[in-house]
Amino acid sequence: MGKIILTGDRPTGKLHLGHYVGSLKRRVELQNSGEYEKIFIMIADAQALTDNADNPEKVRQNIIEVALDYLSVGLDPAKSHLFIQSQITELTEMTFYFMNLVTVSRLQRNPTVKAEIQLRNFEASIPVGFFCYPISQASDITAFRATTVPVGEDQEPMIEQTREIVRKFNAVYGETLVEPEILLPDNEVCRRLPGTDGKAKMSKSLGNCIYLSDPEKVVREKVMSMYTDPLHIKVSDPGHLEGNTVFTYLEAFSRPEHFAEYLPEYQNLQELKDHYTRGGLGDMKVKKFLNHVLQEELAPIRARRHEFEKDIPGVYRILKEGCDAAREVASVTMADMKRAMKIDYFEDENLIAEQAKQYMGE
Ligand code: ATP
Ligand code: MG
Repeated sequence: MGKIILTGDRPTGKLHLGHYVGSLKRRVELQNSGEYEKIFIMIADAQALTDNADNPEKVRQNIIEVALDYLSVGLDPAKSHLFIQSQITELTEMTFYFMNLVTVSRLQRNPTVKAEIQLRNFEASIPVGFFCYPISQASDITAFRATTVPVGEDQEPMIEQTREIVRKFNAVYGETLVEPEILLPDNEVCRRLPGTDGKAKMSKSLGNCIYLSDPEKVVREKVMSMYTDPLHIKVSDPGHLEGNTVFTYLEAFSRPEHFAEYLPEYQNLQELKDHYTRGGLGDMKVKKFLNHVLQEELAPIRARRHEFEKDIPGVYRILKEGCDAAREVASVTMADMKRAMKIDYFEDENLIAEQAKQYMGE
């Protein structure tokens, strides 16, 4: 069987640089590698509702934003199915059955969910749906028999949970589902890109993002006010690299060609770092360089977005076609699961015939 990709994003806002280096960029490369039989990219609206139940309009308005971001980075509907989670009812159906295979304490141990509960101040009032979203994610992945899930590091516990559910399902009901593998970015800093404020993760919920759709001026302003090294006060002071977000972003985005073009006094990032730690290199110069690097990456994305923005009904058509393709695949998996779980009463002619025979004989 060929390799299949499933991955996605919550429509809780526009997509940002963290999404880009953590997952989007890789998806496009994988899409264009021709090595994957099928690619499914999901806008996780049902998941977004688990912690935004009282704000459906936010989720609704962000579907188009995420879709535009997808198209603008180069996801191609001719190669990848772009679809909306809630429109595939099989996904919720699967979740209901998977819930029987997971314990409450196992969910409570999930470190990502723990951190998110804290961040949202849910404490004692955690919505059951939110608590269970790792199970629903297992449905999203297994419904498409995905072999490969390209995501950031925060998703590691979710993929592990999915693998456990698949193993349990197959052990109890017979070999039916495929165990997926996580695909993390090779470049370590891309696995969890920090926010512009230096916080551990760039995240829509933390308001510390550079969005793919930010205009040039906004990107420049955000870069210029980024967190660096609080001890680096005078230019002559030796600077520190640890936790210095500007250098982290350069690790993620800069290439030797950028130096030749924008900062020819240095051959590469190592030379720039050496000068910074020695002292004598000001933050402003480094930030200006980072701004050039980011603008170069973002300009074509922004331009493509403007093109797609001219045809919003066309973007919705792409999503609808994606939903149809996704539903077709998920319904086959669901039927296989039902057969395995012995809840396929009307499809199983043997069951009816045997029981009829039994009763005839009595
Ligand atoms: P929310 O705050 O609503 O959870 P988010 O910014 O965390 O939003 P998600 O939609 O939860 O974004 O994540 C979508 C994908 O992007 C996941 O694969 C996740 O691992 C990846 N991702 C999100 N933020 C980062 C980041 N800062 N660095 C690397 N990958 C990231
Ligand atoms: Mg998230």
